[in-house]
Amino acid sequence: PKGNLTVLGLGAMGSAVAARLRESGYATTVWNRTAAKTEPHVAAGSTAAATVPDAVAAGDVVLVVLLDHASVREHLEPAAAGLKGKVVVNLTTTTPNQARSTAAWAAEHGIAYLDGAVMAVPGMIGTPGSRLLYSGDENAYAIARPALETLGAAEFTGADPGVASLKDMALLSAMDLMFLGYLQAFAMMRTVGTSAADTAAEVEAWLAAMLPHGKGIAAIVDGGTYDTGGQSVDFDRFGIASLITASREQGVSAVLLEPHRKLLEELAAAGHGDSDWPRIIDRLTIHR
Ligand code: NDP
Repeated sequence: PKGNLTVLGLGAMGSAVAARLRESGYATTVWNRTAAKTEPHVAAGSTAAATVPDAVAAGDVVLVVLLDHASVREHLEPAAAGLKGKVVVNLTTTTPNQARSTAAWAAEHGIAYLDGAVMAVPGMIGTPGSRLLYSGDENAYAIARPALETLGAAEFTGADPGVASLKDMALLSAMDLMFLGYLQAFAMMRTVGTSAADTAAEVEAWLAAMLPHGKGIAAIVDGGTYDTGGQSVDFDRFGIASLITASREQGVSAVLLEPHRKLLEELAAAGHGDSDWPRIIDRLTIHR
């Protein structure tokens, strides 16, 4: 074998990770709270451990793929002594601060900690579309990297252990708002009998044509002056008001669009009606 790896958690994602590592030539020891889920992995060549400390003892690198932050801490903390000197790669989805908290806990116990974010669904693990982000201990990344690269394109995003999950959640936020946009369009168009399938095709083509503008918006934000003379806050206020009116006239709630108008109104009230509309980002930053 190329090395000894431990996988804690054999849900949909943990199972895909364990299978891929095994197929890539690693000796894998697996543990799962519900022990029955280890059976197919044992049949395929993995070793099952009855307890977390036993599982941890068998691997040089320990991959954690549990449900959430609480389940990670519940099972890692009692195994701290056995984890000392090992590399822990936590692929469980957590918030940036949860990742930082686990990294601080790991540092206290002499554990090299890497926090991961999986930008893939289980079926994509090990395929070209799969991408995983890692942040935290760079030395841990160097050690685990050959194994991690079997899971998908690997990217180290920095020493702050929270950054991988922050980036994950920023990308998911963008996706979330985009797909809510699809639903708004579906709701508007079904008032005239257009199927969601037909509207989806239209939205896809429209968004594809618009996507390149994202870089232009980024340039305005990075420039920081909001005075390029492009689409202004005031111009956008009228535009969004029309969308809200049209939506309501069709009997469709504008609840998803109203926050956009509110942010523009706030900017106008603060004297920024002439600013480039991406100045909205200033309203998003909470000053503490
Ligand atoms: P599943 O629901 O399929 O599996 C959850 C796993 O967590 C199971 O192994 C379960 O054990 C275990 N678990 C839950 N609570 C506890 C606990 N208190 N103690 C011990 N084990 C526990 O989820 P996934 O495998 O899909 O997801 C795992 C992680 O991967 C999550 O953080 C998820 O956000 C992340 N992820 C998942 C993606 C996906 O598309 N599925 C995509 C990207 C990230 P048991 O079998 O005993 O219930």
